[in-house]
Amino acid sequence: MKNYINIIMIFFLSVMFFSCGKSNTTGQDLTFAEKIRNEVDGLSKIEMQSVFQFMGDDLFEGRSPGTRGGDLAERYVRSVLKILNIEPLGKDYLQPFKLKGFTTNSLNVKAGGQSLKFLDDVLGTFTGKEDDFNFSAEAVFIGFGTDTKLWDWNDYKDFDINGKFVIVRVNDPGMFIDDIFEGKILTYFGRWTYHIEEARRRGAKAILLIHTDASAGYGWNVVQNSWSGEEVYLESSLEGNMVFTGWLREEKLKQILIAKNINLDELYSKSLKRDFRPIPLDFEIEVSGNRSYREIMNNNVIGFIPGKSEKSIVISAHIDHLGMIPGKKGDNILNGAIDNGTAVASMIMTAKILKKYNSELYYSIIILGPNAEEANLLGSKYFVANYDGGELIANINFESTPVWGKSESLIGVGARFSTMENILKQIAEEEGVEYKYFSMSNQGFFFRSDQFPFAMADIPSLWISTGEDDESGMDLYKKFWTKTYHTVKDEYDPEWSLEGMRQTIRYALLLIERINRDKTPPEWSRKLTFPVNKK
Ligand SMILES: [Zn+2]
Repeated sequence: MKNYINIIMIFFLSVMFFSCGKSNTTGQDLTFAEKIRNEVDGLSKIEMQSVFQFMGDDLFEGRSPGTRGGDLAERYVRSVLKILNIEPLGKDYLQPFKLKGFTTNSLNVKAGGQSLKFLDDVLGTFTGKEDDFNFSAEAVFIGFGTDTKLWDWNDYKDFDINGKFVIVRVNDPGMFIDDIFEGKILTYFGRWTYHIEEARRRGAKAILLIHTDASAGYGWNVVQNSWSGEEVYLESSLEGNMVFTGWLREEKLKQILIAKNINLDELYSKSLKRDFRPIPLDFEIEVSGNRSYREIMNNNVIGFIPGKSEKSIVISAHIDHLGMIPGKKGDNILNGAIDNGTAVASMIMTAKILKKYNSELYYSIIILGPNAEEANLLGSKYFVANYDGGELIANINFESTPVWGKSESLIGVGARFSTMENILKQIAEEEGVEYKYFSMSNQGFFFRSDQFPFAMADIPSLWISTGEDDESGMDLYKKFWTKTYHTVKDEYDPEWSLEGMRQTIRYALLLIERINRDKTPPEWSRKLTFPVNKK
């Protein structure tokens, strides 16, 4: 009997030896895509965890740019790139850039003789030269303040808003009339950042955005939270006449206008017509107060994997988060374990595998950890505006990567604008999952992470992710965005299975593999719903 067992053992051992030998010889014949699949299967939960466990630790104090925790995050990601033997881009992997930070200490706003209460009715930031500020300008309602040939819509007409105090609606007219713009799907022309940029370009002195829960997509308390601390800007984004940007509660505006015999609903209905022209309101808005100013140095972290071509694909995941909530009792650290620790982990795992197989790469790979993403995508804006290497052909961004179980779908936020969507559809088919749109894409998610500055610079881009349908059947990703996102609850949890993250890494790599194999840079494939600076 014992002999018999020995023979069986020897048989199995020889089969094992044979099959090992076999897989070794055919190992060299595996396609790049097959190697990628094997590598991603081989990633351990521990190594994926290690990145966001550390970056989400309380010791990082929420990784706000220019703070001790923010600086540590830069140094940490740099060290990881070094461990992976990835080359630096820029001086020792760091691309320094300056932020200008403004904190409003006191603010007095008077409109048409009525006083507005700071924080309750109005919030804003003075970005002019003096810390003690005082100015006034004539109020003009500019509707949606939108000018785009895409839908033949121009609210400004020939009206000169130079030096004026403009009051603007957020969102785009499509929110109210289904068959114009993209209907309920927000275009960039509806983002509050666009309204400010356009008014600044046209020389307005100041701007107040009208806040309603419905048009902003969030309550006044969210505006209060995000505008009552420090507002940071790139030097380049403060050019022009504009010295004040802020928000005004709709209810208060109504009161001010009623006293002047102006009906806000009438202004609103005029603003929904193509023949709208800016409407002077026949009163001045006076603003005074005090603010503090400081300069903050911070860095993007950048690595490089050379391919055969000078042209590069950029993979990215922002390294910063929102810091701490001053004055809050108990846990006041916004750890950002998912936003964006898990995305940084995904980017690093992707880079690790690409580095191992760099001989397979036609296009070079730039690994970009932008800083100051939470301050309106400043790090990626700075990178795109200042990169002077070879052509950038695509950006694949990771943002708040799901950490739970497997999903039967994959998502590319913004993929629908370019030929990358077709590739993702093919990858989905090969992987036996469904290609889906993100259920919250009507909220402009494409415009809200680091893929967007690339798109505005004419570089096709997307945010890659596994789908929302977690195998548990629970709506975990949606719950993250509605309950946990940007709160102190975005914390590391060792229980996360990370299978969704594994899928995300796999899809990113397969997309890169396919762009490499085709050797054709991705192109735009449909009407773009945002302004593009043509290359
Ligand atoms: Zn984020």
